[in-house]
Amino acid sequence: SQRVVIIGAGIVGTNLADELVSRGWSDITVVEQGPLHMPGGSTSHAPGLVFQTSPSKTMTHLARYTVEKLLSIEKDGHKCFNQVGGLEVATTPARLEDLKRKHGYASSWGIEARLVSAEECYKMYPHLNNEMVLGGLHIPSDGLALAARATQLLIERTSKAGVRYLGHTPVTGIERDGRRVTGVSTPGGTIPADIVVSCAGFWGVELGAMVGVEIPLLPLAHQYAKTTAVPALAGRGINNMINGMNATLPILRHQDKRLYYREHGGQYGIGYYGHRPMPVVAASLGLTPKEVDEKNMPSRLEFTTEDFDPAWKESQKLLPALQNTEIADGFNGVFSFTPDGGPILGQPSHLDGFYVAEAVWVTHSAGVARALAQILTTGRSDIDVSECELSRFEEVQLNRDYVSETGQQNFVEIYDIIHPLQQRESPRNLRVSPFYAREVELGAVFFETGGWERPWWYEANKDLVKSLPPSWQPVERDSWSAQLHSPISAAEAWKTRNAVAMFDMTAFHRFDVRGPGAVGLLQRLTTSDITTKPGTVTYTLLLNDHGGIRGDIFVLRLDDDVFQIGANTATDLAYLTREARVHEQNTPGQWTEVRDVTGSTCCIGLWGPRARDVIAGITTVDVSNKGLPYFSLKKTVIQGIPVTLIRKSYVGELGWEVQTSAEYGQRLWDTIWQAGKLHGLIAGGRSAFNSMRLEKGYRTYGVDMTTEHNPFEAGVSYAVDANKKDDFVGKAALQRLSKQVPSRRLRALTVDDGRSMILGKEPVFHNGKAAGYVTTAAFGYTIGKPIAYAWLPGYLRESETVEIEYFGKRIRATVEAESLYDPEMNRLRQ
Ligand code: FAD
Repeated sequence: SQRVVIIGAGIVGTNLADELVSRGWSDITVVEQGPLHMPGGSTSHAPGLVFQTSPSKTMTHLARYTVEKLLSIEKDGHKCFNQVGGLEVATTPARLEDLKRKHGYASSWGIEARLVSAEECYKMYPHLNNEMVLGGLHIPSDGLALAARATQLLIERTSKAGVRYLGHTPVTGIERDGRRVTGVSTPGGTIPADIVVSCAGFWGVELGAMVGVEIPLLPLAHQYAKTTAVPALAGRGINNMINGMNATLPILRHQDKRLYYREHGGQYGIGYYGHRPMPVVAASLGLTPKEVDEKNMPSRLEFTTEDFDPAWKESQKLLPALQNTEIADGFNGVFSFTPDGGPILGQPSHLDGFYVAEAVWVTHSAGVARALAQILTTGRSDIDVSECELSRFEEVQLNRDYVSETGQQNFVEIYDIIHPLQQRESPRNLRVSPFYAREVELGAVFFETGGWERPWWYEANKDLVKSLPPSWQPVERDSWSAQLHSPISAAEAWKTRNAVAMFDMTAFHRFDVRGPGAVGLLQRLTTSDITTKPGTVTYTLLLNDHGGIRGDIFVLRLDDDVFQIGANTATDLAYLTREARVHEQNTPGQWTEVRDVTGSTCCIGLWGPRARDVIAGITTVDVSNKGLPYFSLKKTVIQGIPVTLIRKSYVGELGWEVQTSAEYGQRLWDTIWQAGKLHGLIAGGRSAFNSMRLEKGYRTYGVDMTTEHNPFEAGVSYAVDANKKDDFVGKAALQRLSKQVPSRRLRALTVDDGRSMILGKEPVFHNGKAAGYVTTAAFGYTIGKPIAYAWLPGYLRESETVEIEYFGKRIRATVEAESLYDPEMNRLRQ
């Protein structure tokens, strides 16, 4: 097996060693700067509350596995998980509604959960102030992780299996030979390795810097305090339980005041997120001392009492039993926050053998460790971890100012009720397209993704709402789905379907892939034959070896050795870059340059039945269906501007993407705008775009389908060329999968009452039983009904009825044949 060095013996590093050993890897060294019995990182003082359910399926499943694993670790009656259950209480009507939504997530992701009345909360948790609580969410499988003990038991069991642990050994450098790591340096010398995994927790930034890798995490201090003995907790005989099972009440969250609670025998433990963010630079904490104890460790900073005052007052209100007690002991404990709140897992594209698993909570620790162990040993993890990928961040999201500002925001908002479309107020305007000034003039309302400002709708189109035909009139929405929504989107969709609209497509990733190896590389990575003639467009999939979908891309062949890739994420760029390197290593001379050209180019999607009239007025190119058929492209000049016309559309209408380099952008916008006036051209935003995309059935990678799904289940097998002669990643798996009947499928649903909105991630029921979950949803303006895409059992047939649960209410919906709009593709191919 490979020689592995794991840096850090916290809950993540030790779990990783364990997951690797259990998969047969044997040459593993764990290097820890602190003493092994108490290394002094975040794990050493973690109170260990495990609330599994979150809006993210991935995170929930990583947590579920962690619970399973911790339950299985035991020695001499000493357990590592106290399954007391989890209770989240609502003290405001808004939170009560939010708990319904959270209950929906639990059902979607397969976690048993129950909404409970105020009386039931009180029964379950008699210390609660029954005048404050309106209701709660109870999850019986949640509980307390005994993380420090689990770490010790894992060290013990993996040591027996041959893992070498080096305590008091700081890693001071990471050695490399060109693009490959070769080991780590320590004061005692070099430890050679083929694979180095940094599980250094909030020291991740410093470790990354040793190999020039930006790790976008921010260490922040978070307050945790223990009370003096609480009379109401006395006399239960659990205070001195040596097995650590010193709690019987459920772990408790009072998110309206940013608080959480657990018992420590006869005392209460209180965690608080309501104080000011307190950023920490790990390097400034100095070396871990030789002697670490409960009170003296680098991750434990001095308690700042005044920051805790509001928490203490609120706690005594919620739990009157605390009124005659005091704070006995408190500290400001350090752990990691990231720009999007997710963990950081994976490897940088420029370096082989270096991996990270950082910014991981105890809650997700074993799940993350298993995912990484699976990636290392088999190349992929059972649970899709794309949303945790180190490579998911855009360059602009890696700079320290961005990480600091967004990390602090995530700390502040950790318990807030967040609408799925909620926008951060700052940092904004980091990346704008060359059309930005014109979009502002048209009253664009911008939403941000990856630092890009993207028009969601345009206030300039407001008056069009009045002229909508009756069947297009927007329906009234409930207050939640009405947030961050405008009926103007209906008007923009109507214009696109009936006249023509232009959409700013600049923020979509575009990569230039060129060189003698380009054809071979893309042929090896994609499911289609891309050896077509220059001037063609191919929609194709990137798979893993197991046939799971790791991306869907457009391949534009611009010249013999020059391609442009239209992709979804920065992770696609990292993948192509790494694979280009591997391809050249395997076939010397066959180099390929992969370059992100998103920011240096720009793109307008011009779509609608009158798009041809607009484009024909400004180009000499033959834009007839014969001259420039669907899925073809041509380079030309529009009024002096060099452009590429690409005949494709995400919204299912006739039209072109018009690309140029950034400096010509504004002139291109003005030229098309001017030419379109005659034909009723408007600018359209992403909200209308998303609705039309769903009507057409185009999937979004990462939302509708992931590595957990194969093309047959996901309804994208049309992007697989069954006759492709050349071998490609996933081909053998696909051949096997093509013979199986899918047990689940991504299906289109429409809502029967034509008006009840859903927003995504809701559970779906069939014959009263949980059957699946919604991925994306939108109102389909053309078809006049809300649409939802959902993963459902393969046996469900078209026209069968299911129910979608939205804030506790069941909404009837029907399984539909696809596409919901223009299934014959007549609009696109005219
Ligand atoms: P760590 O435990 O920090 O381990 C990293 C290790 O790497 C350290 O031991 C460190 O010494 C070592 N290391 C670093 N640099 C080097 C180097 N150069 N050479 C050698 N070794 C190195 N999570 C929950 O899920 N539930 C909770 O209720 C919860 N409550 C929390 C409350 C507080 C007050 C705090 C601070 C955190 C809490 N967390 C909670 C978060 C959780 O504790 C951490 O996310 C988790 O413990 C991180 O585990 P880790 O193994 O990644 O990091």
